[in-house]
Amino acid sequence: MKKWFTIATSLIFIISLLSVPNQASGHFNTTGKKWNAGYVNFYINNSSLPTTFDTPITSAMRTWFNQIPMNTQRQYSTSAGIHFEYSRASSHFPNDEIAVAIVSGTGNTIESVRILFNQNMTWTTSSSGSGYHIQTVALHEIGHALGLDHVGWSLIPDTRNHVMYYTYTDVKTSLHSHDIEGIKSIY
Ligand SMILES: [Zn+2]
Ligand SMILES: [Zn+2]
Repeated sequence: MKKWFTIATSLIFIISLLSVPNQASGHFNTTGKKWNAGYVNFYINNSSLPTTFDTPITSAMRTWFNQIPMNTQRQYSTSAGIHFEYSRASSHFPNDEIAVAIVSGTGNTIESVRILFNQNMTWTTSSSGSGYHIQTVALHEIGHALGLDHVGWSLIPDTRNHVMYYTYTDVKTSLHSHDIEGIKSIY
C-alpha cells in the first residue's frame, strides 16, 4: 500500500466526482494465486509489533474470512500461514510503502505470507488521529495475502472506496461490495 496522492490531486478528484457514474459489478482484480486449504491461521510477531496491533489485525482477518468458506485462527507459533511483523528495512519498502505483503508459494498455491508494517511510519488505532490506521492497512494487505490485486487509480467515486484501491485514502473497516465479489470469486 502506498501513500496518498497530493492534496492538490484530491481536490481535483472531488470536482470530478460529480459528473462520473458509479462502477458496475465485476470490478476487482485477482493475482491468480490462492490458498488451497480449509483454514489459514495467522501469527502476530509481538517481539517486533506492539500489542496495539493485535485487535485491529484480528478484526481485519475476521472481516475477510466472514465472506469465505475458510477458517482462520490466531496462532502463537510461527508455523501459521500469515505472519504480521514490523520492518524498517528499506529493501522491503523501496518506494516508501506503508506496508507490504510478501506472498510465497508453489505454482498458483499460496503457502505463506509475510505482512510487514513499515516501522518508520506513524501508526494509530484511532480513526481520527494522525498516522496510518492499522486496521485499514491490515485489511488491504490481507486482501493481497488471499489473492486479490489492486484496483487502480480512477475518477469513478466507487473505486476509491474499495479496500483494494491501490493507495491509502482514509479509514476503512469494512469491505466494499466489489471487494466481497472479488474474494468470493477466488474461494
Ligand atoms: Zn496493495
Ligand atoms: Zn467498484
